[in-house]
Amino acid sequence: MNRSLIGADKLVVASHNTGKIREIRDLLAPFGIATLSAAELGLEEPEETGTTFEANARLKALASAHAAGLPALADDSGLAADALNGEPGIYSARWAGETKDFGAAMQLVEDRLQDAGASAGSGRRTAKFVCALCLAWPDGHTELFEGEVAGTLVWPPQGDRGFGYDPMFVPLGFDETFGQMVPARKHDMSHRAAAFRLLMAQCLSPGSQPAS
Ligand code: IMP
Repeated sequence: MNRSLIGADKLVVASHNTGKIREIRDLLAPFGIATLSAAELGLEEPEETGTTFEANARLKALASAHAAGLPALADDSGLAADALNGEPGIYSARWAGETKDFGAAMQLVEDRLQDAGASAGSGRRTAKFVCALCLAWPDGHTELFEGEVAGTLVWPPQGDRGFGYDPMFVPLGFDETFGQMVPARKHDMSHRAAAFRLLMAQCLSPGSQPAS
C-alpha cells in the first residue's frame, strides 16, 4: 500500500523552476496542503546525476525532504523527440544553458530535427513530454509516479504561456501549442497532470496508508 499524504500540513515542492512550482501548486491547491518551494527555503539544488527521470526525481525529493525535515515532492521532466532518439530527454533543462534560454533550446531542437531530416511535413516530428513525480519523506520512504503526453513539434514557436518547450509542442488531437493554451487546459492533459492523477489516487485517497 502507498504511503498517504493526507494529514500532512506542509509539503516542500523540491524545485527552483518557477513554471513547475506554479503548476504543482495549482494541482495541489484542492487538497489544502500548504507548499513551500526549495527556492523559498534556500535549499541547494542537488546535482542531477541520475540517468532516468525517475532517478533524478528521487534524488531531488530526498534531498529536500532531508534538508527541510518535511515531506517533499519533486518533478523531473523533459521533452523526448522521436527523431532525436529521445533527446533532449533528461537533459531538457541543460539544453537551455546556464542562462536558461529556452528560445535557444527550442532552436537547438529545431536544428537537430532538420539535421535528422525531420522537417515540417516529414511526419517525423512526433515527441512526448515525460514527467516523473517523486514524493519523499524525511525517513527515506519514497513513492514514484510517471506520466506522458504525446504530440508533435512545430516551428516557429507559438504562444507565450507555459514555460520551457511549451511553445513548440502541440499535444495530439489539438491544434494549438501548450504555449497558446489556457493553463487549465494544459493542466487537464499534461504529462505532469497524468503523473499527478496517479499520485492523487495512491497517496491522497482515503484508502492510502497514513504516515506514522
Ligand atoms: P528538470 O526536470 O528540472 O531537469 O527540467 C525539466 C525541463 O524540461 C524544464 O526546464 C523544461 O525545459 C522541460 N519541461 C518539463 N516539463 C515541461 C512542460 O510542461 N512544458 C515545457 N517544458 C517542460
